[in-house]
Amino acid sequence: MRGWLHTAMFPLSLAGGIVLVALARLAAAAACSVYALSACLLLGTSGVYHCGTWGPRAEAVLRRLDHANIFLITAGTYTPLAVLVPAGRRLVLLSLVWGGAAAGIAFRVWWIKAPRWLYTVCYLALGWAAVFYLPAFARTGGIAVIALIIVGGLLYTTGAVVYALKRPDPSPRWFGFHEVFHALTIAALTLPLRGHLPRHNMTSGTSALAPAGEPPGCARTGPDPATTSLLAAGAGAVALRRRDRGKGGRLEATGRAGRT
Ligand SMILES: [Zn+2]
Repeated sequence: MRGWLHTAMFPLSLAGGIVLVALARLAAAAACSVYALSACLLLGTSGVYHCGTWGPRAEAVLRRLDHANIFLITAGTYTPLAVLVPAGRRLVLLSLVWGGAAAGIAFRVWWIKAPRWLYTVCYLALGWAAVFYLPAFARTGGIAVIALIIVGGLLYTTGAVVYALKRPDPSPRWFGFHEVFHALTIAALTLPLRGHLPRHNMTSGTSALAPAGEPPGCARTGPDPATTSLLAAGAGAVALRRRDRGKGGRLEATGRAGRT
């Protein structure tokens, strides 16, 4: 189930991303593309990782990518938000979040067996790192942007806590703590669109950028090779999964349950 949530969201994130980028002005569109791309990477990789049946080597690679994407989506979300900040401080904010993301990715790639609590704290730390910029976001983006950032931040934070504690775990077989975590991610990822669509009269370039706070994401740019291949990979994973259903489904589900 957990892989399906993100797999199903992947084409929607693509469409959402196209809308988001199309509505934005040039600088904003570039920043939105970064957000959209990181969201598609997250959903696409997660779908492939959680839905497919992989050998130990492929699984080790996919797990690293899946976890690295959490840092990417965090920085990817801050990128459009940075357009709201005065030019002088923008570079500092972007360096902070992208530097933090790079450090986080290096940490996850080289120490994949790090304790769960430790890397969860790292995700949260990067997610909330730019909280000091809230007044700056509010000045340009208004209360609506702040509300989105706070709601998005809380959704991701709740997801991280559920993930770290492994509870609530309603139905370990069908919809356990990991699925709760994925569902919360999706809720946060779609916030930018929800915040954006009702007021798409782009009178100011910045209003195009309402992405939620934190480690979220939801949109996407037009089809590029990476996306197209991700989409194909996602479809492949879905087909694989279908084929495997029935034979040893139970065993397979047990295997996937350990995948985090
Ligand atoms: Zn997952």
